[in-house]
Amino acid sequence: MSRAQYVIVGAGPAGLNAVESIRAQDRQADIKLVSVEPAYARMALPYYLSGRIERAHLLTADPAYYDRHGVEPLVGQRAVSLDTGSRQLRLSDGQVLAYDKLLLAPGSSPTVPPIPGRELPGVHTFWTLDDADRVIQAAVSQPEALMVGAGFVGLIVLSAMLKAGWRLHVTEMLPQVLPRMLDRAAASLVSDWLRARGVQVHTETQVIAIQETPSGRKRVLMESGSQIEVDVVIVATGVRPNVDLAQAAGLQVESGILVNEYLQTSDRNVYAAGDAAQGPDRLGGPRAVHAIQPTATDHGRLAGANMAGQSVAYPGSLSMNILDVMGLHCVSIGRWDARGLESSTAADHSRALYRRLVWEEDRLVGAVLVGPSPDLALVNDIGMAKGMIQAQVHLGAWRRYIESNPWDLRRPFTAARVTELLLNEPAILGPSRPRIYRFRDLQVESEFRPTHSQLLRARPEALVPPIPAPPLR
Ligand SMILES: Cc1cc2nc3c(=O)[nH]c(=O)nc-3n(C[C@H](O)[C@H](O)[C@H](O)COP(=O)(O)OP(=O)(O)OC[C@H]3O[C@@H](n4cnc5c(N)ncnc54)[C@H](O)[C@@H]3O)c2cc1C
Repeated sequence: MSRAQYVIVGAGPAGLNAVESIRAQDRQADIKLVSVEPAYARMALPYYLSGRIERAHLLTADPAYYDRHGVEPLVGQRAVSLDTGSRQLRLSDGQVLAYDKLLLAPGSSPTVPPIPGRELPGVHTFWTLDDADRVIQAAVSQPEALMVGAGFVGLIVLSAMLKAGWRLHVTEMLPQVLPRMLDRAAASLVSDWLRARGVQVHTETQVIAIQETPSGRKRVLMESGSQIEVDVVIVATGVRPNVDLAQAAGLQVESGILVNEYLQTSDRNVYAAGDAAQGPDRLGGPRAVHAIQPTATDHGRLAGANMAGQSVAYPGSLSMNILDVMGLHCVSIGRWDARGLESSTAADHSRALYRRLVWEEDRLVGAVLVGPSPDLALVNDIGMAKGMIQAQVHLGAWRRYIESNPWDLRRPFTAARVTELLLNEPAILGPSRPRIYRFRDLQVESEFRPTHSQLLRARPEALVPPIPAPPLR
Protein backbone atom coordinates (compact mmCIF):
# COMPACT_ATOMS: atom_id res chain seq x y z
CA MET A 1 0.00 0.00 0.00
CA SER A 2 1.33 3.49 -0.83
CA ARG A 3 2.20 5.86 1.97
CA ALA A 4 -0.35 8.57 2.84
CA GLN A 5 0.67 12.07 1.71
CA TYR A 6 0.09 14.87 4.22
CA VAL A 7 0.78 18.52 3.48
CA ILE A 8 0.67 21.20 6.17
CA VAL A 9 0.71 24.94 5.45
CA GLY A 10 2.15 27.00 8.32
CA ALA A 11 4.84 26.17 10.89
CA GLY A 12 3.20 27.92 13.85
CA PRO A 13 1.84 26.03 16.88
CA ALA A 14 -1.15 24.74 14.88
CA GLY A 15 1.07 23.33 12.12
CA LEU A 16 3.71 21.78 14.42
CA ASN A 17 1.15 20.17 16.71
CA ALA A 18 -0.51 18.66 13.64
CA VAL A 19 2.84 17.24 12.49
CA GLU A 20 3.38 15.56 15.87
CA SER A 21 -0.16 14.28 16.00
CA ILE A 22 -0.02 12.76 12.50
CA ARG A 23 3.35 11.17 13.20
CA ALA A 24 2.04 9.65 16.43
CA GLN A 25 -0.74 7.93 14.45
CA ASP A 26 1.11 7.02 11.27
CA ARG A 27 4.80 6.04 11.30
CA GLN A 28 5.01 5.60 7.51
CA ALA A 29 3.26 8.73 6.23
CA ASP A 30 4.94 11.26 3.99
CA ILE A 31 4.66 14.68 5.71
CA LYS A 32 5.56 17.98 4.04
CA LEU A 33 5.51 21.25 5.97
CA VAL A 34 5.31 24.44 3.89
CA SER A 35 5.94 27.74 5.62
CA VAL A 36 6.90 31.26 4.60
CA GLU A 37 8.63 31.76 7.93
CA PRO A 38 10.74 29.38 10.01
CA ALA A 39 9.06 27.81 13.03
CA TYR A 40 9.22 30.07 16.08
CA ALA A 41 7.07 31.05 19.06
CA ARG A 42 5.29 34.23 18.04
CA MET A 43 3.95 34.77 21.56
CA ALA A 44 7.51 34.77 22.94
CA LEU A 45 8.55 37.73 20.74
CA PRO A 46 7.93 40.25 23.55
CA TYR A 47 10.45 38.37 25.76
CA TYR A 48 13.00 38.59 22.95
CA LEU A 49 12.27 42.32 22.60
CA SER A 50 12.77 42.92 26.32
CA GLY A 51 16.04 40.92 26.26
CA ARG A 52 14.81 38.08 28.47
CA ILE A 53 15.38 35.35 25.90
CA GLU A 54 17.88 34.86 23.09
CA ARG A 55 16.78 34.92 19.47
CA ALA A 56 17.78 31.25 19.03
CA HIS A 57 15.50 30.26 21.89
CA LEU A 58 12.45 31.46 19.97
CA LEU A 59 12.85 28.68 17.43
CA THR A 60 10.45 25.78 17.92
CA ALA A 61 11.79 23.43 15.23
CA ASP A 62 15.26 22.82 13.80
CA PRO A 63 16.74 20.21 11.37
CA ALA A 64 16.96 17.66 14.22
CA TYR A 65 13.24 18.17 14.96
CA TYR A 66 12.31 17.62 11.31
CA ASP A 67 14.53 14.50 11.16
CA ARG A 68 13.03 13.13 14.35
CA HIS A 69 9.50 13.54 13.02
CA GLY A 70 10.35 12.49 9.49
CA VAL A 71 9.12 15.76 7.99
CA GLU A 72 10.25 17.42 4.78
CA PRO A 73 10.39 21.15 5.63
CA LEU A 74 9.73 23.55 2.75
CA VAL A 75 10.59 26.71 4.69
CA GLY A 76 10.68 29.99 2.77
CA GLN A 77 7.98 28.72 0.42
CA ARG A 78 4.50 30.23 0.17
CA ALA A 79 1.47 28.15 -0.78
CA VAL A 80 -0.03 30.24 -3.60
CA SER A 81 -2.93 28.21 -4.97
CA LEU A 82 -4.97 25.17 -4.14
CA ASP A 83 -6.93 22.84 -6.41
CA THR A 84 -9.17 20.72 -4.19
CA GLY A 85 -10.47 18.71 -7.19
CA SER A 86 -7.06 17.30 -8.17
CA ARG A 87 -5.76 17.62 -4.54
CA GLN A 88 -2.76 19.74 -5.50
CA LEU A 89 -1.09 22.67 -3.79
CA ARG A 90 1.12 25.04 -5.77
CA LEU A 91 4.06 26.78 -4.06
CA SER A 92 5.76 30.10 -4.79
CA ASP A 93 8.77 28.37 -6.46
CA GLY A 94 6.41 26.64 -8.92
CA GLN A 95 6.50 23.14 -7.46
CA VAL A 96 3.20 21.35 -7.05
CA LEU A 97 2.53 19.08 -4.05
CA ALA A 98 -0.04 16.31 -4.27
CA TYR A 99 -1.84 15.46 -1.04
CA ASP A 100 -4.29 13.00 0.44
CA LYS A 101 -4.99 15.31 3.37
CA LEU A 102 -4.08 18.98 3.63
CA LEU A 103 -3.99 21.25 6.70
CA LEU A 104 -4.27 25.01 6.31
CA ALA A 105 -2.69 26.67 9.36
CA PRO A 106 -1.47 29.98 7.92
CA GLY A 107 -2.25 32.11 10.99
CA SER A 108 -3.20 35.77 10.69
CA SER A 109 -1.60 39.01 9.49
CA PRO A 110 -1.63 42.51 10.93
CA THR A 111 -3.95 45.05 9.33
CA VAL A 112 -2.60 48.58 8.87
CA PRO A 113 -5.03 51.47 8.33
CA PRO A 114 -4.27 53.75 5.34
CA ILE A 115 -2.42 56.41 7.38
CA PRO A 116 -0.30 58.68 5.16
CA GLY A 117 3.34 58.00 6.09
CA ARG A 118 2.78 54.38 7.14
CA GLU A 119 5.48 53.25 4.66
CA LEU A 120 8.23 55.45 6.23
CA PRO A 121 11.27 53.75 7.77
CA GLY A 122 10.73 53.53 11.51
CA VAL A 123 7.02 52.65 11.16
CA HIS A 124 6.52 48.96 11.94
CA THR A 125 4.00 46.29 12.75
CA PHE A 126 4.91 43.81 15.49
CA TRP A 127 3.78 40.37 14.41
CA THR A 128 6.80 38.51 13.01
CA LEU A 129 10.36 37.75 14.04
CA ASP A 130 11.54 40.14 11.29
CA ASP A 131 9.35 42.88 12.84
CA ALA A 132 10.92 42.23 16.25
CA ASP A 133 14.44 42.39 14.76
CA ARG A 134 13.62 45.72 13.08
CA VAL A 135 12.27 47.27 16.29
CA ILE A 136 15.28 46.05 18.31
CA GLN A 137 17.66 47.51 15.69
CA ALA A 138 15.79 50.83 15.79
CA ALA A 139 16.52 51.34 19.50
CA VAL A 140 18.73 54.44 19.71
CA SER A 141 19.95 55.69 23.07
CA GLN A 142 16.91 56.52 25.26
CA PRO A 143 14.53 55.46 22.50
CA GLU A 144 10.95 56.72 22.37
CA ALA A 145 8.04 54.96 20.68
CA LEU A 146 4.37 55.41 19.93
CA MET A 147 2.07 52.39 19.89
CA VAL A 148 -0.92 52.95 17.63
CA GLY A 149 -3.65 50.76 19.12
CA ALA A 150 -4.12 49.76 22.77
CA GLY A 151 -5.29 46.20 22.16
CA PHE A 152 -3.90 42.89 23.42
CA VAL A 153 -0.78 42.77 21.24
CA GLY A 154 -0.17 46.53 21.53
CA LEU A 155 -0.07 46.41 25.32
CA ILE A 156 2.04 43.23 25.48
CA VAL A 157 4.63 44.85 23.25
CA LEU A 158 4.43 48.12 25.18
CA SER A 159 5.18 46.25 28.43
CA ALA A 160 8.21 44.57 26.84
CA MET A 161 9.46 47.93 25.55
CA LEU A 162 9.14 49.51 29.00
CA LYS A 163 11.34 46.71 30.39
CA ALA A 164 13.86 47.42 27.62
CA GLY A 165 14.02 51.09 28.65
CA TRP A 166 11.87 52.79 25.99
CA ARG A 167 9.87 55.95 26.68
CA LEU A 168 6.35 55.28 25.53
CA HIS A 169 3.09 56.70 24.20
CA VAL A 170 -0.03 54.79 23.22
CA THR A 171 -3.03 55.99 21.22
CA GLU A 172 -6.42 54.32 20.94
CA MET A 173 -9.28 55.56 18.77
CA LEU A 174 -11.94 54.14 21.13
CA PRO A 175 -12.66 55.73 24.53
CA GLN A 176 -10.74 53.05 26.50
CA VAL A 177 -7.67 50.83 26.34
CA LEU A 178 -8.15 47.08 25.66
CA PRO A 179 -11.62 47.71 24.18
CA ARG A 180 -12.14 44.13 22.98
CA MET A 181 -10.93 42.65 26.22
CA LEU A 182 -12.07 44.70 29.22
CA ASP A 183 -15.08 46.72 30.31
CA ARG A 184 -14.76 50.49 30.94
CA ALA A 185 -14.15 50.20 34.69
CA ALA A 186 -11.35 47.65 34.31
CA ALA A 187 -9.82 49.60 31.43
CA SER A 188 -9.65 52.79 33.50
CA LEU A 189 -7.58 50.90 36.12
CA VAL A 190 -5.21 49.85 33.34
CA SER A 191 -4.90 53.42 32.00
CA ASP A 192 -4.08 54.70 35.51
CA TRP A 193 -1.53 51.90 35.90
CA LEU A 194 0.14 52.79 32.59
CA ARG A 195 0.24 56.51 33.42
CA ALA A 196 1.76 55.78 36.84
CA ARG A 197 4.60 54.02 34.99
CA GLY A 198 5.29 56.99 32.76
CA VAL A 199 3.34 55.93 29.65
CA GLN A 200 1.44 58.73 27.88
CA VAL A 201 -2.04 57.36 27.16
CA HIS A 202 -4.20 59.06 24.50
CA THR A 203 -7.70 57.61 24.02
CA GLU A 204 -10.51 58.68 21.66
CA THR A 205 -8.11 60.00 19.09
CA GLN A 206 -6.82 58.78 15.76
CA VAL A 207 -3.47 59.14 14.03
CA ILE A 208 -4.08 61.07 10.79
CA ALA A 209 -0.53 61.24 9.38
CA ILE A 210 3.09 60.32 10.09
CA GLN A 211 5.91 62.58 8.85
CA GLU A 212 9.69 62.38 8.98
CA THR A 213 11.58 65.20 10.70
CA PRO A 214 14.97 66.42 9.39
CA SER A 215 16.68 64.39 12.14
CA GLY A 216 14.89 61.19 11.03
CA ARG A 217 12.43 61.07 13.93
CA LYS A 218 8.72 60.52 13.28
CA ARG A 219 6.21 63.31 13.84
CA VAL A 220 2.76 61.83 14.40
CA LEU A 221 -0.24 64.07 13.78
CA MET A 222 -3.35 63.30 15.79
CA GLU A 223 -6.96 64.02 14.91
CA SER A 224 -7.22 65.98 18.18
CA GLY A 225 -4.68 68.48 16.76
CA SER A 226 -1.79 67.38 18.97
CA GLN A 227 1.55 66.06 17.69
CA ILE A 228 3.90 63.45 19.15
CA GLU A 229 7.55 63.08 18.13
CA VAL A 230 9.16 59.64 18.53
CA ASP A 231 11.91 57.40 17.08
CA VAL A 232 9.65 54.49 16.23
CA VAL A 233 5.93 54.05 15.53
CA ILE A 234 4.39 50.60 15.95
CA VAL A 235 1.01 49.99 14.38
CA ALA A 236 -0.98 47.39 16.35
CA THR A 237 -4.49 48.03 15.13
CA GLY A 238 -5.56 44.41 14.72
CA VAL A 239 -5.03 41.24 12.74
CA ARG A 240 -7.01 39.36 10.13
CA PRO A 241 -7.04 35.58 9.53
CA ASN A 242 -5.13 34.51 6.40
CA VAL A 243 -8.08 33.14 4.43
CA ASP A 244 -7.16 34.16 0.86
CA LEU A 245 -5.80 30.78 -0.27
CA ALA A 246 -8.88 28.96 1.10
CA GLN A 247 -11.27 31.53 -0.33
CA ALA A 248 -9.72 31.38 -3.81
CA ALA A 249 -10.01 27.56 -3.68
CA GLY A 250 -13.75 27.85 -3.04
CA LEU A 251 -13.71 26.69 0.61
CA GLN A 252 -16.36 28.16 2.91
CA VAL A 253 -15.01 31.25 4.64
CA GLU A 254 -16.63 33.80 6.97
CA SER A 255 -14.32 35.69 9.35
CA GLY A 256 -12.03 32.62 9.19
CA ILE A 257 -11.92 29.31 7.32
CA LEU A 258 -15.04 27.48 8.52
CA VAL A 259 -14.37 24.11 10.16
CA ASN A 260 -16.61 21.51 11.82
CA GLU A 261 -15.92 19.73 15.14
CA TYR A 262 -13.33 17.53 13.37
CA LEU A 263 -11.50 20.64 12.10
CA GLN A 264 -12.56 19.73 8.57
CA THR A 265 -13.33 22.50 6.09
CA SER A 266 -16.11 22.39 3.50
CA ASP A 267 -13.82 20.02 1.53
CA ARG A 268 -13.42 16.73 3.39
CA ASN A 269 -9.71 16.35 2.49
CA VAL A 270 -8.79 19.83 3.71
CA TYR A 271 -8.56 20.77 7.39
CA ALA A 272 -7.88 24.15 8.98
CA ALA A 273 -6.49 25.10 12.39
CA GLY A 274 -5.30 28.00 14.55
CA ASP A 275 -5.74 31.74 14.01
CA ALA A 276 -7.05 31.19 10.47
CA ALA A 277 -9.81 28.75 11.45
CA GLN A 278 -13.33 29.59 12.55
CA GLY A 279 -14.41 26.64 14.65
CA PRO A 280 -16.71 25.40 17.43
CA ASP A 281 -17.11 27.57 20.52
CA ARG A 282 -16.80 25.87 23.89
CA LEU A 283 -19.78 27.78 25.31
CA GLY A 284 -22.12 26.85 22.47
CA GLY A 285 -21.97 30.18 20.61
CA PRO A 286 -21.62 30.44 16.83
CA ARG A 287 -18.40 29.19 15.26
CA ALA A 288 -15.68 31.70 16.08
CA VAL A 289 -12.08 32.68 15.46
CA HIS A 290 -10.27 32.57 18.83
CA ALA A 291 -6.83 33.73 17.77
CA ILE A 292 -4.82 32.54 20.77
CA GLN A 293 -2.06 30.00 21.26
CA PRO A 294 -4.10 27.42 23.26
CA THR A 295 -6.69 27.25 20.48
CA ALA A 296 -3.98 26.87 17.83
CA THR A 297 -2.40 24.03 19.84
CA ASP A 298 -5.69 22.15 20.39
CA HIS A 299 -6.80 22.68 16.80
CA GLY A 300 -3.48 21.41 15.46
CA ARG A 301 -3.43 18.29 17.60
CA LEU A 302 -6.99 17.36 16.78
CA ALA A 303 -6.78 18.16 13.10
CA GLY A 304 -3.61 16.04 12.83
CA ALA A 305 -5.24 13.06 14.57
CA ASN A 306 -8.35 13.28 12.40
CA MET A 307 -6.32 13.67 9.21
CA ALA A 308 -4.53 10.45 10.15
CA GLY A 309 -7.77 8.52 10.46
CA GLN A 310 -8.99 9.14 14.03
CA SER A 311 -12.42 10.58 14.73
CA VAL A 312 -11.91 12.93 17.67
CA ALA A 313 -14.54 15.65 18.11
CA TYR A 314 -13.39 19.00 19.48
CA PRO A 315 -15.39 20.37 22.44
CA GLY A 316 -14.72 23.92 21.20
CA SER A 317 -12.33 26.72 22.06
CA LEU A 318 -12.81 29.15 24.91
CA SER A 319 -12.39 32.84 24.26
CA MET A 320 -9.68 33.86 26.73
CA ASN A 321 -7.18 36.70 26.97
CA ILE A 322 -4.59 36.81 29.72
CA LEU A 323 -2.19 39.71 29.67
CA ASP A 324 0.41 41.14 32.04
CA VAL A 325 0.54 44.92 31.55
CA MET A 326 3.67 46.06 33.37
CA GLY A 327 2.86 43.99 36.46
CA LEU A 328 -0.94 44.22 36.24
CA HIS A 329 -2.78 41.05 35.25
CA CYS A 330 -5.69 41.73 32.89
CA VAL A 331 -7.90 38.79 32.08
CA SER A 332 -11.14 38.19 30.24
CA ILE A 333 -12.70 34.80 29.71
CA GLY A 334 -15.78 33.51 27.94
CA ARG A 335 -18.87 35.69 27.44
CA TRP A 336 -17.63 38.56 29.61
CA ASP A 337 -19.29 41.15 27.34
CA ALA A 338 -22.55 39.30 26.57
CA ARG A 339 -25.60 41.56 26.51
CA GLY A 340 -28.71 40.68 28.48
CA LEU A 341 -26.95 38.55 31.10
CA GLU A 342 -26.68 39.37 34.80
CA SER A 343 -23.29 40.32 36.15
CA SER A 344 -21.75 41.16 39.50
CA THR A 345 -18.77 43.46 39.95
CA ALA A 346 -16.35 44.22 42.77
CA ALA A 347 -13.49 46.69 42.93
CA ASP A 348 -10.79 47.90 45.27
CA HIS A 349 -9.15 50.80 43.44
CA SER A 350 -6.52 51.38 46.11
CA ARG A 351 -5.13 47.89 45.38
CA ALA A 352 -5.86 47.96 41.61
CA LEU A 353 -8.31 45.07 41.98
CA TYR A 354 -11.39 44.57 39.83
CA ARG A 355 -13.68 41.67 38.97
CA ARG A 356 -16.77 41.28 36.85
CA LEU A 357 -18.51 37.93 36.86
CA VAL A 358 -21.20 37.19 34.27
CA TRP A 359 -23.95 34.72 35.03
CA GLU A 360 -26.41 32.57 33.17
CA GLU A 361 -28.64 31.34 36.01
CA ASP A 362 -26.23 29.53 38.38
CA ARG A 363 -23.44 29.05 35.82
CA LEU A 364 -20.50 31.41 35.48
CA VAL A 365 -20.21 32.12 31.74
CA GLY A 366 -17.77 35.01 31.65
CA ALA A 367 -15.28 36.92 33.78
CA VAL A 368 -13.03 39.95 33.83
CA LEU A 369 -10.28 39.94 36.46
CA VAL A 370 -7.68 42.63 37.04
CA GLY A 371 -5.05 42.85 39.75
CA PRO A 372 -1.32 43.03 40.48
CA SER A 373 0.58 40.12 38.88
CA PRO A 374 2.59 39.07 41.98
CA ASP A 375 -0.69 38.36 43.84
CA LEU A 376 -0.72 34.57 43.96
CA ALA A 377 -4.37 34.51 45.08
CA LEU A 378 -5.32 36.35 41.88
CA VAL A 379 -3.37 33.87 39.76
CA ASN A 380 -5.25 31.02 41.45
CA ASP A 381 -8.57 32.78 40.94
CA ILE A 382 -7.87 33.24 37.23
CA GLY A 383 -7.42 29.48 36.92
CA MET A 384 -10.51 28.78 39.00
CA ALA A 385 -12.73 31.22 37.11
CA LYS A 386 -11.52 29.67 33.86
CA GLY A 387 -12.25 26.18 35.22
CA MET A 388 -15.78 27.10 36.31
CA ILE A 389 -16.53 28.65 32.93
CA GLN A 390 -14.97 25.79 31.02
CA ALA A 391 -16.81 23.12 33.02
CA GLN A 392 -20.10 25.08 32.91
CA VAL A 393 -20.76 23.76 36.38
CA HIS A 394 -24.08 24.49 38.12
CA LEU A 395 -23.02 26.40 41.23
CA GLY A 396 -26.43 26.44 42.92
CA ALA A 397 -26.33 28.49 46.11
CA TRP A 398 -22.64 29.17 45.59
CA ARG A 399 -23.59 31.80 43.04
CA ARG A 400 -25.01 33.96 45.86
CA TYR A 401 -21.94 33.19 47.96
CA ILE A 402 -19.61 34.42 45.20
CA GLU A 403 -21.70 37.56 44.72
CA SER A 404 -21.26 38.47 48.38
CA ASN A 405 -17.66 37.11 48.63
CA PRO A 406 -16.25 37.99 45.20
CA TRP A 407 -12.63 37.58 46.33
CA ASP A 408 -13.14 33.95 47.35
CA LEU A 409 -13.55 31.64 44.36
CA ARG A 410 -11.65 28.82 45.98
CA ARG A 411 -14.44 27.54 48.23
CA PRO A 412 -17.11 27.35 45.49
CA PHE A 413 -14.53 25.92 43.06
CA THR A 414 -13.70 23.12 45.48
CA ALA A 415 -17.26 22.50 46.63
CA ALA A 416 -18.55 22.25 43.05
CA ARG A 417 -15.80 19.72 42.24
CA VAL A 418 -14.70 21.59 39.14
CA THR A 419 -11.31 19.87 38.94
CA GLU A 420 -12.99 16.47 39.04
CA LEU A 421 -15.40 17.48 36.27
CA LEU A 422 -12.58 18.71 34.06
CA LEU A 423 -10.37 15.70 34.76
CA ASN A 424 -13.21 13.38 33.78
CA GLU A 425 -13.37 14.98 30.36
CA PRO A 426 -11.54 12.97 27.74
CA ALA A 427 -8.16 14.70 27.39
CA ILE A 428 -7.26 15.77 23.89
CA LEU A 429 -4.58 13.20 23.09
CA GLY A 430 -2.58 13.59 26.33
CA PRO A 431 -0.67 16.60 27.69
CA SER A 432 1.02 19.00 25.26
CA ARG A 433 4.82 19.19 25.09
CA PRO A 434 6.94 22.15 26.11
CA ARG A 435 8.54 24.09 23.25
CA ILE A 436 12.18 25.12 23.05
CA TYR A 437 12.06 28.81 24.02
CA ARG A 438 13.16 29.60 27.56
CA PHE A 439 14.02 32.51 29.81
CA ARG A 440 17.61 33.64 30.09
CA ASP A 441 17.37 34.63 33.74
CA LEU A 442 15.01 32.01 35.13
CA GLN A 443 15.97 28.48 36.11
CA VAL A 444 13.14 26.03 35.60
CA GLU A 445 12.79 24.16 38.89
CA SER A 446 12.18 20.46 38.76
CA GLU A 447 11.78 20.25 42.55
CA PHE A 448 8.98 21.90 44.54
CA ARG A 449 10.12 25.03 46.30
CA PRO A 450 10.18 24.79 50.12
CA THR A 451 7.18 27.13 50.32
CA HIS A 452 5.22 24.82 48.07
CA SER A 453 5.88 21.73 50.15
CA GLN A 454 5.04 23.67 53.32
CA LEU A 455 1.72 24.54 51.73
CA LEU A 456 1.08 20.90 50.89
CA ARG A 457 1.85 19.83 54.47
CA ALA A 458 -0.22 22.55 56.13
CA ARG A 459 -3.57 21.65 57.64
CA PRO A 460 -6.42 23.43 55.81
CA GLU A 461 -7.86 24.94 59.04
CA ALA A 462 -4.50 26.61 59.64
CA LEU A 463 -4.61 28.20 56.20
CA VAL A 464 -8.23 29.28 55.89
CA PRO A 465 -10.17 30.76 58.79
CA PRO A 466 -13.61 29.09 58.77
CA ILE A 467 -16.42 31.32 57.49
CA PRO A 468 -20.03 30.28 56.90
CA ALA A 469 -20.70 29.06 53.38
CA PRO A 470 -23.97 27.88 51.88
CA PRO A 471 -24.46 24.15 51.33
CA LEU A 472 -24.11 22.97 47.77
CA ARG A 473 -27.51 22.35 46.20
C1 LIG B 1 3.52 39.77 20.07
C2 LIG B 1 2.53 38.67 20.22
C3 LIG B 1 2.21 38.19 21.48
C4 LIG B 1 1.29 37.17 21.63
N1 LIG B 1 1.00 36.75 22.89
C5 LIG B 1 0.11 35.77 23.06
C6 LIG B 1 -0.20 35.31 24.37
O1 LIG B 1 0.33 35.80 25.37
N2 LIG B 1 -1.10 34.31 24.51
C7 LIG B 1 -1.71 33.73 23.42
O2 LIG B 1 -2.51 32.82 23.60
N3 LIG B 1 -1.45 34.15 22.17
C8 LIG B 1 -0.56 35.16 21.96
N4 LIG B 1 -0.27 35.60 20.70
C9 LIG B 1 -1.01 34.99 19.56
C10 LIG B 1 -0.39 33.65 19.14
O3 LIG B 1 0.96 33.83 18.84
C11 LIG B 1 -1.15 33.10 17.94
O4 LIG B 1 -2.49 32.87 18.31
C12 LIG B 1 -0.54 31.80 17.42
O5 LIG B 1 0.78 31.99 16.98
C13 LIG B 1 -1.38 31.26 16.25
O6 LIG B 1 -0.80 30.09 15.79
P1 LIG B 1 -1.02 29.59 14.30
O7 LIG B 1 -0.24 28.32 14.17
O8 LIG B 1 -2.45 29.59 13.96
O9 LIG B 1 -0.38 30.74 13.37
P2 LIG B 1 1.11 31.38 13.34
O10 LIG B 1 1.84 31.17 14.60
O11 LIG B 1 0.90 32.77 12.87
O12 LIG B 1 1.81 30.55 12.19
C14 LIG B 1 1.38 30.59 10.84
C15 LIG B 1 2.55 30.35 9.91
O13 LIG B 1 2.06 30.18 8.59
C16 LIG B 1 2.92 30.85 7.68
N5 LIG B 1 2.12 31.15 6.46
C17 LIG B 1 1.12 32.06 6.32
N6 LIG B 1 0.60 32.00 5.06
C18 LIG B 1 1.29 31.03 4.41
C19 LIG B 1 1.23 30.52 3.08
N7 LIG B 1 0.33 30.93 2.17
N8 LIG B 1 2.11 29.55 2.72
C20 LIG B 1 3.03 29.08 3.63
N9 LIG B 1 3.12 29.54 4.91
C21 LIG B 1 2.26 30.51 5.29
C22 LIG B 1 3.35 32.10 8.45
O14 LIG B 1 4.55 32.59 7.93
C23 LIG B 1 3.51 31.54 9.87
O15 LIG B 1 4.80 31.07 10.09
C24 LIG B 1 0.65 36.61 20.50
C25 LIG B 1 0.98 37.08 19.22
C26 LIG B 1 1.91 38.09 19.08
C27 LIG B 1 2.27 38.59 17.70
